[in-house]
Parts: sequence; structure tokens; C-alpha cells
Amino acid sequence: MAEIIFDHVSKVYKGNVKAVTDLNLKIEDGEFVVLVGPSGCGKSTALRMVAGLEEITDGKVTIDGVEVNDEDPGNRDIAMVFQNYALYPHMTVYNNIAFPLQCHNVPKAEIDKKVKEIAGLLGLSDYLKRKPKTLSGGQRQRVAMGRALVREPKAFLMDEPLSNLDAKLRVQMRTEICELQKKMGITTIYVTHDQVEAMTMGSRIAVMRFGILQQFDTPQNVFDKPDNIFVASFIGSPSMNFLKATIQKDAEGLFADLNGQHLRISGRDLDRHSTLEDYIGKEVAFGVRPEHFEVKEAIGDVLKAHVYHVELLGAEKLVYAEIDAEQVFPDVVIAKATGEKPSGDEATENKGKAKLVIKIDSQLNITDDMEIGLVPREGLMHFFDLDDGGSAIVKRPE
Ligand code: ADP
Repeated sequence: MAEIIFDHVSKVYKGNVKAVTDLNLKIEDGEFVVLVGPSGCGKSTALRMVAGLEEITDGKVTIDGVEVNDEDPGNRDIAMVFQNYALYPHMTVYNNIAFPLQCHNVPKAEIDKKVKEIAGLLGLSDYLKRKPKTLSGGQRQRVAMGRALVREPKAFLMDEPLSNLDAKLRVQMRTEICELQKKMGITTIYVTHDQVEAMTMGSRIAVMRFGILQQFDTPQNVFDKPDNIFVASFIGSPSMNFLKATIQKDAEGLFADLNGQHLRISGRDLDRHSTLEDYIGKEVAFGVRPEHFEVKEAIGDVLKAHVYHVELLGAEKLVYAEIDAEQVFPDVVIAKATGEKPSGDEATENKGKAKLVIKIDSQLNITDDMEIGLVPREGLMHFFDLDDGGSAIVKRPE
């Protein structure tokens, strides 16, 4: 088992394609870390640099304190499982799993013990005599993992291993992979573009965008305390709602002014966002997750919204509402700071009205055309700077 460190690691492909830029990550021994981000953000490249399948342009990768930049992939003692699990079709499950040990001339009795042990862990004991084509997708994926893990490598790397499986099987395999990782205690790096997979599997998750690490923290912290508007919008489904607000202060303290509708910032919200004092009179992005609104009557100090669609999900429902405020598009905020071209569709939106999504218990009687009052639950307001690419306006540790 091993600790893996990315120390100022960059990768530039031919044609000056900057796939990974100055990546710093310290993955503890036995940890399950998920690299997550939109397609093309450099996750696979980062993983492949650990495996030795991609040269490192700058910086270094160390495994257990030893720099491996120039180490042959075969000498790194690392196992990798890909999306296409590439089993040997003519070999039985037993021989597929045993293959890496047979290649290393491990004694037969030891091979037998190890194959049976790993097959037991993976629930494959009854399938050892079968050929891959007689197995389900999930079983084949388990054989691929067995083959990778039978050598008891220092670390286990997985690149979108579940993307070929159907939705139900993916959920099941998610749990199985986590259980296996815990049992074996093997340092694991897992790449996915699926934020639900990241949230449910990682002990910590590294959120990437355009080759740059955005946040590295526990799933709970990434969800509750996103460092910037990109992480806030990427993690969570449906995505966080963002509205433009002006920060104001009166005798009672700070409040957010959304086109004349006021929300008091107090208690835990004020504690976390005390640096909002520096933004008095300025516009910021105000964010609330769909599940963090309380729905009330449309009177008093609430955000008044008009329901235009309700979608029943089962135990919950999604309420789509319009509010007299200006929508903020994370893409546009980021583009303003980076000079990128925004992919947002703000031009087509009605500027006067913003759209909100609210997730509530399906028992609540909210229907089309209702006027509702919305209040964010305490401690669950978010504020982001509109001028610096959307960093969270929070009190940072000294
Ligand atoms: P992800 O795994 O997040 O989808 P990748 O690491 O595969 O992203 O790719 C990151 C960036 O590097 C993308 O812009 C991709 O087009 C580019 N890239 C990946 N592999 C190569 C390559 N062999 N040559 C040139 N560019 C590449």
C-alpha cells in the first residue's frame, strides 16, 4: 500500500494542449480518492501519469516517497482497470484472474489460494470455470478487478470503470467497489465524470476543471462548502440556483437585496460569510441548493416566486418557479475572469425573471401557477464574487 503525491504536476500534450496544470494532491495510504470533473478536464491524464502511461511534463509524482517520473510502468506495482475491461475471451474466469501471477512464475499452490481468495471477495467463487462471454457486464467487471488486484498492488487506479454498465448495475457495483476497497485497504484513485459516483464513493474528491484542481475535500465539505461557483454548480443535482444580489446593511445588519426583495444574512450564514462586509453596495452571486429552500406562504420576508411546473419524482418533487430577479450563469462568471468564451445560454434567457428549481417532499401541496414564498434554510446560503471568477465569499482559515 502506498501514499501517492502529485507535486506541482503538469502535462502538456503536443500542440500545446494543457491537460493538467500545476496539480498538487496528497493521497494518503489506504485512501479512496475520486478525480471528478467534466469531460476533458484532465482526470484520465492525471491518472495515467501515476500509472506511467503518460509522461509528466513538469513536477513529480511520488509513490511512497519515491519519485516515479522515469520509472517503467511495470515497475510501479500499480494495477489499473479501464472502462473496457479487456478480459481474455478464451480463458476461464480462474485463468483470467490468475494470469498476472502466472506471468510472474508464482507457485501454483499460491496462485490457487490467491485466486480463490479474491474470487470470494468479489462474489465470483461459483463462476471460476466459466468463460467471460457467459458472464453479465457486472461479473466481467468484477473479473477485471480481480485480475488487477490479485497481485496485491500498492495502489489501484480505475478510469470510469462503470460507464459500460446499466444504471442499476452501476449503483450496485459502486457499493461493491467501496466494500472491496475497504476490505483490502488499498490506496485507490478513481476517475469519473459522474458527480453522484464521486460523492458516494470517495473518502475525498478532487474536482477538476480545464486541467486545474478546483477543490480537494470530503464529499460533505465539497457539497456544503464549495470553494467557488464552478464546484457549487458541478456538485449536486439538480444544480445550485444562482441569483444576482446586492449586499446591503441596515441597523439590524447585513441583507441581500434581490431586485427589491430582501433576505437577512444572520446566524450561521453571517458567521461563514462574514467577509461579505467588504461587499456592501456590491453585486454578488447568491446561491441556494434546490433542497435547501423552505417553502412558505408568499407574505413577509420571503422571496416571492411563481410556480410554472411541478415534476413528481416519487418521494420528492421538483418545483420550477420564476422569480423577479436576475439569474447568474456560472459559465459567464468564470469566462469574465478567464477570458474564455462562455458556453452559457444567457443571451436567450429573459433577463427580468430568473428560474429556480426547488426540491421538496412530494407530500407538500405545491402545484402549477401557485405563488410561493421561499426562505433558504439557516446556514445554507452561498455567496460568490462576480469579478474574480466566482470564488466563495467566506471567512478563510488564517
Ligand atoms: P478527462 O479524462 O477529464 O476526460 P483527459 O485527461 O482525457 O480528460 O484529457 C484532457 C485534455 O487533454 C483534453 O483536452 C484532451 O483532448 C487532451 N488530450 C488527452 N489525450 C491527449 C493526447 N494523447 N494528445 C493530445 N491531447 C490529448
